[in-house]
Amino acid sequence: MSRSENPSNSRREFLKRLTAAAGGAALTPAWVSKSFSKTSSDRSFEPPLAIASGFNGEPAVKKAVEIMQNGGDVLDGIISGVNIQEEDPDDMTVGYGGVPNEKGVVQLDAAVMDGRTHESGSVGALENIMHPSRVARLVMERTDHSLLVGEGALRFARMHGFKEENLLTDRARERWLEWKETLSDDDNYFPPENPDDNQTGSLWEEFESHHGTIHCSGLDANGGICAVTTTSGLFYKMPGRVGDSPITGAGLFADTKVGAAGSTGRGEANLQNLSSFLIVERMRMGDSPEEACLKACERIAENTKIPRLVNEKGEPNFNVRFYALNRDGQVGGAELRSSNGSMKVADRSGIHTIELAHLLE
Ligand code: ASP
Repeated sequence: MSRSENPSNSRREFLKRLTAAAGGAALTPAWVSKSFSKTSSDRSFEPPLAIASGFNGEPAVKKAVEIMQNGGDVLDGIISGVNIQEEDPDDMTVGYGGVPNEKGVVQLDAAVMDGRTHESGSVGALENIMHPSRVARLVMERTDHSLLVGEGALRFARMHGFKEENLLTDRARERWLEWKETLSDDDNYFPPENPDDNQTGSLWEEFESHHGTIHCSGLDANGGICAVTTTSGLFYKMPGRVGDSPITGAGLFADTKVGAAGSTGRGEANLQNLSSFLIVERMRMGDSPEEACLKACERIAENTKIPRLVNEKGEPNFNVRFYALNRDGQVGGAELRSSNGSMKVADRSGIHTIELAHLLE
């Protein structure tokens, strides 16, 4: 056996590389074997119920449950719910009013998944269409495909009668301009001489604490489970960058036999760990929604080794949030780093806020 084939030797090499990647931090990161900071805050609700991201999901869950209570379909309910955010110019992370890409163009990602049929539809980098989640649904229902992107997605939307609109609001444009003008001292763009000329500052500070995107999942009284995620994605992203939101298994997943999960936050981490799929599979194996979400956080923490993505303790320096429900109406969520994140739940009794558990302080 050669030296490099010796398993104990390659393990040593691996650990050495891991230590180096973590900037020399201890080999056993803080989260390993640690009992989670908050567990068992899962709560149970009587269906019909809907869950969504806490910072922007209240109107969506309310609408979704209203529709289900009036005999409407769960998928209609959750899509109508997130349409409210897609139309809202003040939600700068979804649809109309979303923060544009580096060229100043709003590009939207969205997906729907029907856990009853295991079908899904998605659009990526879609421009000029206010309701990408509706287009995603049509990809699922009116094509043999699961994902359409860019120009092809736009043509498909036009084919179905969607109107093209300018999605860039003045507020988002001004914010983008400010970003562009302050990006570098070594280019031809200058910020205003008087910083008070910047009208967007205070609104921006308020918004910056928000992670973008809306995720919404629903469970109807017949046990049907569906999920939707829709977003304008990473701020100032490269044109054509597609995040986790329209990728089934990454930004959302639903299986009526088990439950549903979805996410907001750093999409690349979910793309690389298929976090929403992992959460549903953990629930299939018996984890509660919150436990399953914490497992996804743990997986991301374990797999994040690139120095630019870790802090001095070797922990991920970004955040990701997860929201999940199971077929019994149990609901819970978690975030990678503590930021007082929450999720919204609606049922017949009204709207509830549930605190997310967290893996790291
Ligand atoms: N997950 C979204 C993306 O990566 C962004 C976010 O939720 O903040 O596109």
